[in-house]
Amino acid sequence: IIQKAKDLKKHRLSLPIYTARDIIIKEVKENACVVIVGETGSGKTTQIPQYLLESGLAAHGTIAITQPRRVAAINLAKRVAEEVGTPIGQKVGYSIRFDDSSSRDSLIKYMTDGIMLRELLSDRLLLRYSVIILDEAHERTLRTDILFGMVKSIQKQRQELIDKGRKDVQPLRIVIMSATLNAEKFSEYFYNAKIMYISGRMYPVKILNTIEPQSDYVDSALVTAFQIHQEEAPGDILIFLTGQEEIENLEKLIEEYAVDLPPSVGKLIPCPIFAAQDSATQQKIFEPAPQGTRKVILATNIAETSITIPNIRYVIDTGCHKSRGYNAKIGIESLLVEPISKSSARQRSGRAGREAPGLCFRLYTEYSFDQLEEDSIPEIKRCNLESAILSLKATGIDDVTGFDFMDRPSKSGMLRSLEHLYALEALDDEGKLTEIGTKMAAFPVDPPYAKVLLQSEKMECTKEAIEIISLLSVDSVFSAPSSKREEANEARQKFVSLDGDHLTLLNTLRAYESVKGDRDWCRENFINSRHMRHVMDVRKQLIQFCERSGMDPKKSCGHDLEIVLKCFLAGFFQNTALLQPDGTYKSIIGGQTVSVHPSSSLFGKKREAIMYNELVFTTKHYIRGVSALESAWLPQAAPKYFGRRQA
Ligand code: ADP
Ligand code: MG
Repeated sequence: IIQKAKDLKKHRLSLPIYTARDIIIKEVKENACVVIVGETGSGKTTQIPQYLLESGLAAHGTIAITQPRRVAAINLAKRVAEEVGTPIGQKVGYSIRFDDSSSRDSLIKYMTDGIMLRELLSDRLLLRYSVIILDEAHERTLRTDILFGMVKSIQKQRQELIDKGRKDVQPLRIVIMSATLNAEKFSEYFYNAKIMYISGRMYPVKILNTIEPQSDYVDSALVTAFQIHQEEAPGDILIFLTGQEEIENLEKLIEEYAVDLPPSVGKLIPCPIFAAQDSATQQKIFEPAPQGTRKVILATNIAETSITIPNIRYVIDTGCHKSRGYNAKIGIESLLVEPISKSSARQRSGRAGREAPGLCFRLYTEYSFDQLEEDSIPEIKRCNLESAILSLKATGIDDVTGFDFMDRPSKSGMLRSLEHLYALEALDDEGKLTEIGTKMAAFPVDPPYAKVLLQSEKMECTKEAIEIISLLSVDSVFSAPSSKREEANEARQKFVSLDGDHLTLLNTLRAYESVKGDRDWCRENFINSRHMRHVMDVRKQLIQFCERSGMDPKKSCGHDLEIVLKCFLAGFFQNTALLQPDGTYKSIIGGQTVSVHPSSSLFGKKREAIMYNELVFTTKHYIRGVSALESAWLPQAAPKYFGRRQA
């Protein structure tokens, strides 16, 4: 034990950040806000809280460090508890949803940003904290952005109380930490706070791109890992993947293939890391591989900047991650696999050069790299503004237009969103979150879809609602190659419902399921099987979500499908149009003339009233995802909206 303590001490003294210890303490003591930028692995997250503790800054309250990811919060807290030399939960603790391992006595507390937002509801001034460290600021998640605004305002409020002579209130110190260099924006936002740069150690990393685009990156990651293992010098491999399922698949594949390795080649040991994993397994990624073997770490974005894994010489970058808000269609969270940004790609390759020169295998072409966005776009700019407003309201911030955003949405956009949320019954007359709104805020889809799901519980058609929402999450499940348009059209007639696209989609899904997604069947029927698989994936996630939130995702309306359309209308009453005497459709709000898109099953049909999923403008205002309805359904679907309009 004594040896271990000595080793830990030695490790702490050897970190690049150690040389800046005294100046960091001085700056944080003298300034209300400090921005610290440092290479991943330099010691920011594990050391700075300890330095501040050692300097006496925790005398008037706990030091809090927020993390965007649960795994990181737990893992880092455990490590720091070990370095401090007390069991986890005493001096050093962590708090994540459903797992609180911190106590009143904790002097350092690692927590997810979600938990801090929650704590704000019961402790408006976060009085139990003396220092709040907002870590991984460069990720710019919606939650961190909300926290930025909140802590800034809390700091000011506390100072005002102190100025009025309140002896029981202490000032709040804010530390912003980021792994990327563009920190000016943070500094500006926090009253031109001083930026401290911690220099790290970096060895050169050679980048190798593929010559051809890869159709299956899991497969090419597998091949690349075995190639490295058989041909390259010792050193562990780190593969960036997009999620737990993918990680587990690749783990199995590696285990299968490793059996066939010639005896002269050492073992290749896969080590996955993800949230739902016991901590002993997780600790394995930090332990050196046994002599003559090589570890291959399978990780998500977590290994990009949150957690530094030692001894990595080789990085395999799939070029993808899952990110919230990218699916503009239904706004579903953390489901879509998307290309990363250039700055993420650079962070990933950097992981190979921490201890020696390294190699990074990018499983995409140089051309693809050039096409990537420079930086990832802050979540607040990507996600639906209405979702962001619901999150703010759920945190108890009622004055959203007055909120101090780092990237401010337009005021008119916000007012429009507030009106819409009111019409959806998510907000009451005073703009406060209703019970429906509180539930909607927890849903992983945009508000109108969340409303449909909530309504489906009442109308007993959750199964169908989930299915149709999943189908709407892709561009189209039908493929129509221009050379075979007629054949494709004919094939589609089998699925067409006279009620329109929502039920046509449902018919298509039923047929797809009855043949178990057979690829030949898809080809013959001009169904895009890749999109269909995505639909099934989204459906699975939505089912899981409903189960977790106590809804019954199997509740079905059977053949009474009119119910489903009424249910969708509760979320999409704003997307409705009425047939005019001249045969055109005019939207109920705005009186815009809209044309049914040729891809719709209601193209060329005349129905009294219609509802649509989206409006796209090309040469004219086209509506897609169109279904027929009866105008008598309207007032019932949105009493707030149509009631007020008549008044
Ligand atoms: P930064 O926040 O600047 O990226 P960290 O403070 O997270 O850096 O990490 C500093 C060092 O501590 C790294 O070398 C990392 O490998 C090591 N480290 C962090 N967590 C653990 C752990 N659970 N076990 C062993 N080493 C760890
Ligand atoms: Mg860190």
